Amino acid sequence: MAKPVVAIVGRPNVGKSTIFNRIVGERISIVEDIPGVTRDRIYSSAEWLTHDFNIIDTGGIDIGDEPFLEQIRAQAEIAIDEADVIIFIVSGREGVTTADEMVAKILYRSQKPVVLGVNKIDNPEMRDQIYDFYALGFGEPFPISGAHGIGLGDLLDEAAKHFPKQDEIVYDDDVIKFSFIGRPNVGKSSLVNAILGEERVIVSDIEGTTRDAIDSSYTFEDQEYVIIDTAGMRKKGKVYESTEKYSVLRALRAIERSDVVCVVINGEEGIREQDKRIAGYAHEAGRAIVIVVNKWDAVEKDEKTMKKFEEKIREHFLFLSYAPIVFVSAKTKKRVNNLIPVIRRVSENHSLRVQSSILNEVIMDAVAMNPTPTDKGQRLRIYYSTQVSVKPPTFVVFVNNPELMHFSYERFLENRIRDAFDFEGTPIRILSRQRK
Ligand code: GDP
Ligand code: GDP
Repeated sequence: MAKPVVAIVGRPNVGKSTIFNRIVGERISIVEDIPGVTRDRIYSSAEWLTHDFNIIDTGGIDIGDEPFLEQIRAQAEIAIDEADVIIFIVSGREGVTTADEMVAKILYRSQKPVVLGVNKIDNPEMRDQIYDFYALGFGEPFPISGAHGIGLGDLLDEAAKHFPKQDEIVYDDDVIKFSFIGRPNVGKSSLVNAILGEERVIVSDIEGTTRDAIDSSYTFEDQEYVIIDTAGMRKKGKVYESTEKYSVLRALRAIERSDVVCVVINGEEGIREQDKRIAGYAHEAGRAIVIVVNKWDAVEKDEKTMKKFEEKIREHFLFLSYAPIVFVSAKTKKRVNNLIPVIRRVSENHSLRVQSSILNEVIMDAVAMNPTPTDKGQRLRIYYSTQVSVKPPTFVVFVNNPELMHFSYERFLENRIRDAFDFEGTPIRILSRQRK
């Protein structure tokens, strides 16, 4: 089930990102270790007591050159569109401002629960400052101090009261859930339409899920598929929808609900930083991945063009060496019919289980070929390996001392496992555990 989503809104400088960072804490992401991929500090998972949720700092979503008030308006609309609960932050130092009132007016029009936090109440003597904010009409204002971490617990308790109960449609485990992610205008919605328009595809009723997400369900060659969260692609026209940060937010939401993620690249424009960042999130989340190069019709080609583009992708997406690449055109529909079988194949690999006996043979052969590393006179010993889970396939290797398992040796083992079994399209994880 997808986690509840909380969005922080408010005019600039009230302390949104300070509060966001406090709530999120120090979460080090593997994505940050991938060269060329940096964390957008606008979206993160978080925990409060027993609650797991995702949190968005809408203040971090820049809406191009729009004027000040337009920016704030768009950010509030994003919160309404994306969140289950909205945390509206104002500043206790300045009192109610015109910009606060404007945000309030936009939030009134939504059905979403709003919790009001009055920030910068750094000490108890300042608590009287909160009374003015009753006028905003969101009930009791919560005094907080993002800078000092005061009052955030009460604020989050209140937000958690509004978390939806199990509301998401839960699909059967054998349904393949996939999504198209990528920068604005790469052709994600065109690809969805191209697939649903395929002759042998049987589209069933569109099922509504929560948060205005609309999934498309269809059957192809006796396999049921669901295309995740295409609503954002269909209703277009909002000012923020073409911004890159918003596309990242959309991508993260889709990744969370998918088994297979198709990372769409615009073949006409080539590879951009943002493509890598979005793909990095999918990799980190452990989803099966297909790289889709779209708009291939618009590319001037000779017999080497595809190969060259492929090499460029491999060079830029070093961490996705396992992902197959498909060149398509949503416009002419060329090779769109190749896409579904590839999605099916990587999905099968994503949930592939291998036999422990064969796995251990593979690992022992690998060790015989390339001896385990030593450190300070101690040699890594591998006793036994086993696959502990799927989606993505995850292996535990029992060793004498996990610290001796170097990244490069783990990489080597991963490559041997990949040579022995078909894990095309799926990340695999190797965990070293000390044998007691
Ligand atoms: P945002 O624009 O809403 O994301 O606001 P920031 O988080 O960037 O904070 C704006 C300014 O307010 C910064 O200088 C922060 O250090 C300051 N600030 C944030 N929270 C508090 C607080 O609880 N107390 C005080 N005194 N200052 C704060
Ligand atoms: P999204 O923002 O990623 O959902 O992109 P859209 O599907 O809305 O497509 C953006 C633009 O690219 C539209 O004008 C499409 O007609 C165009 N487009 C999409 N796919 C193709 C393609 O395969 N070839 C060409 N030439 N144009 C395409």
